[in-house]
Amino acid sequence: MRVPFVDLHAQYLTIKPEIDQAISAVMSEAAFISGKYARLFEEQFAQFLGVQHFVSCANGTDSIEILLKGLNIGPGDEVIVPAVSWISTSEAVTSVGAVPVFADIEPDYYCINPKEIESHISSRTKAIIPVHLYGQPANMPEIMRLAKKHALKVIEDCAQAHGAIIDGRMVGTWGDAASFSFYPGKNLGAYGDSGGMATNDARLAETIRRIANHGQLAKHDHQIEGRNSRMDGIQAAVLSVKLPYLKEWTHRRIELATQYSEALTNSGVVAPSIRPNSSHVFHLYVIRTSERAGLQKKLEAAEVQTGIHYPRALPYLPCYSNLQNTAEDFPVAWCFQDEILSLPLYPEMQDTTLQKIVRAMFQ
Ligand SMILES: *Cc1c(COP(=O)(O)O)cnc(C)c1O
Repeated sequence: MRVPFVDLHAQYLTIKPEIDQAISAVMSEAAFISGKYARLFEEQFAQFLGVQHFVSCANGTDSIEILLKGLNIGPGDEVIVPAVSWISTSEAVTSVGAVPVFADIEPDYYCINPKEIESHISSRTKAIIPVHLYGQPANMPEIMRLAKKHALKVIEDCAQAHGAIIDGRMVGTWGDAASFSFYPGKNLGAYGDSGGMATNDARLAETIRRIANHGQLAKHDHQIEGRNSRMDGIQAAVLSVKLPYLKEWTHRRIELATQYSEALTNSGVVAPSIRPNSSHVFHLYVIRTSERAGLQKKLEAAEVQTGIHYPRALPYLPCYSNLQNTAEDFPVAWCFQDEILSLPLYPEMQDTTLQKIVRAMFQ
């Protein structure tokens, strides 16, 4: 039996009647772009997070870009981002004409290291984008302290951490604003691209709502130029069906991660560490081993699909080769990129499947 890395079809089957009905309603009403279903999901997700405003948009990458624009960050500005993330985090900074400045990650929790942030602050620094990587909250109390001290904006990248909590507060409620992705494989995923932005700042909420819809709040009210970045009605309807299940799915992710970590105790493989006073929502279960190639081969032979998130840390990607980053610049990110391995994890995965994976690892 082949073990997939994620199984989105399995999840669809558990909620098929509700999803089919919701999609069919959108089609009957031809509520295809933004509109009533997007508004409804915005309200539901704002309530879930406990924020004043949630503005939907076309995808998670756009949500970072629109927030940067909304915060007036652009040419001449620098934004500090972690050395390890999906490329969207730095790409969005470049897209608005600003410069992404990388900071190394924590050796234990893999998120941006607050100690590395301060040394990268210059007179041009305008913002920090912490990423709650793999589902683990970044050190928000410390990051907010630094941001306050240096008058920097904070945009939380919550694409991998819907519902994660640190110090009793959900991620996405700490910074000036937060970006979310609902890409199908995320913890809360639509059936296509979609994303959104959370904030408690009413003015920022209005600005980003305008930017995401050609500068308009009402039709033909172009106070500013914006862009086309709206959530589809079908995606919004799917997300409204899925949101009530998120808690249960997250609980199952944590349960599976706990089983993995117990099975990996004293195995020589490094299991993920969980930050004190926080919940890790395990978008990904990422282990470390110096024997990665061998382990991957073993799992491949047992038909277990694995992933690497990410094979190259951001500063070492070809698109940033002009920066001529060396191993010494980001030693943790440099070292870990050759050791990390993501094991299959999705809420519908059976305990027996997990046991099979662990057996295959140590055969
Ligand atoms: C997925 C992801 C994004 C971007 O989301 P898209 O919806 O795919 O554009 C941004 N940041 C991180 C960390 C992500 O994992």
